[in-house]
Amino acid sequence: MTTFIDPIERARLIVAHDGDNAFDAVVPPIVQTSLFTFPSLDEMIATYRGETSRYVYSRTTNPTVRAFEEKLAALESTEDCIGFASGMAAISGSVLAFVSPGDRIVCVRHVYPDAYRFFETFLKRFGVTTVYVDGTDPDAVAAALPGARLLYLESPNSWMMEALEIEELAEAAKKHDVLTVIDNSWATPVFQQPATLGVDLVLHSASKYIGGHSDTVAGVVCGSASHIATIRRSIHPYLGAKLAPFEAWLLLRGLRTLPVRMRQHQTAALDIASRLSRLACVKAMHHPSLRNRMPAGLHGSSGLFAFEFDDSVHIPNFCDRLKLFKLGVSWGGHESLVVPALVTRAQAAGPNSALDFGVSERMVRLHVGLEGADALWADLEQAITSATRPS
Ligand SMILES: *Cc1c(COP(=O)(O)O)cnc(C)c1O
Repeated sequence: MTTFIDPIERARLIVAHDGDNAFDAVVPPIVQTSLFTFPSLDEMIATYRGETSRYVYSRTTNPTVRAFEEKLAALESTEDCIGFASGMAAISGSVLAFVSPGDRIVCVRHVYPDAYRFFETFLKRFGVTTVYVDGTDPDAVAAALPGARLLYLESPNSWMMEALEIEELAEAAKKHDVLTVIDNSWATPVFQQPATLGVDLVLHSASKYIGGHSDTVAGVVCGSASHIATIRRSIHPYLGAKLAPFEAWLLLRGLRTLPVRMRQHQTAALDIASRLSRLACVKAMHHPSLRNRMPAGLHGSSGLFAFEFDDSVHIPNFCDRLKLFKLGVSWGGHESLVVPALVTRAQAAGPNSALDFGVSERMVRLHVGLEGADALWADLEQAITSATRPS
């Protein structure tokens, strides 16, 4: 009999302690240096020959960044990990490391909008094409795979909250020798470890839950030693979008509380989403845990979900009357946020018109922060009441 390990308890053990820190400090130092010197020319030459390994220059590696990378690799159950300056740098860096002109990417629909724009406006110019498929339809994904170079997944995704059967999709990709990449920002490694389900590269916008305090923009990619070595060698030094020591230190601090924060986000968001579902003015709920079934490998849910109001609620008034939920993009921090789909429509009409977002204008996305479910519910109730047209 296999014993089930509670995902939050598992993560707590990983984030609680480091190995040895200098001076027996509980917290690792911020090694705020651009370069590292050598004790002798012999040592310098041996390093450049690749005979010894040591820190040389912080655009490539840095001890504080490395401490963060090792902790995240442990959380994601992968051999290695590499930090980037942002989630988008992690996305572009990991894709660029593996595609060449003429290659085709298969991407699930409703991915993070800037990932979509990266594929459509940048990669296209270099002869890499992308086709979009319904990730919840394994047959549609399988049909698109033959001849593709890379399968790009995001699950659950951050508007429709579609939760994919990752293991099944990764297995189909493997059959066709297609590299799999997943954006795991929503679930975090606390609730989902896609590498254990057969995915090759697992990336995050660490600006979200991993940082957790809305004070850092950063990204990260986890995978096998050989895949991460390819990224480290072929693209990371030249894009130059490295993770900085101070940001890595903030992320290490964020990781200490990631499991307990995720437990709170999960409980409060489920509570609020369930209460919203019971309102007559809410005609659809997009929350992975409130569907009939969670996919295998997804062991919990975060604080981000979306729902649709019927015509009785004036959405701009609802957003403006909220007090605890602030209007803002991003998510994953301590604070609760609201953003209506009307905003993404406005953006699609502007300079970034490449995006066909395809979500209903009646949709509203909430991020449930750490304020406490009862206070947040009271805020939502008063905003809904004052934004509802008398019938
Ligand atoms: C925010 C976000 C990104 C991009 O990350 P940045 O750190 O802002 O570059 C990628 N994927 C998802 C799902 C996101 O929410």
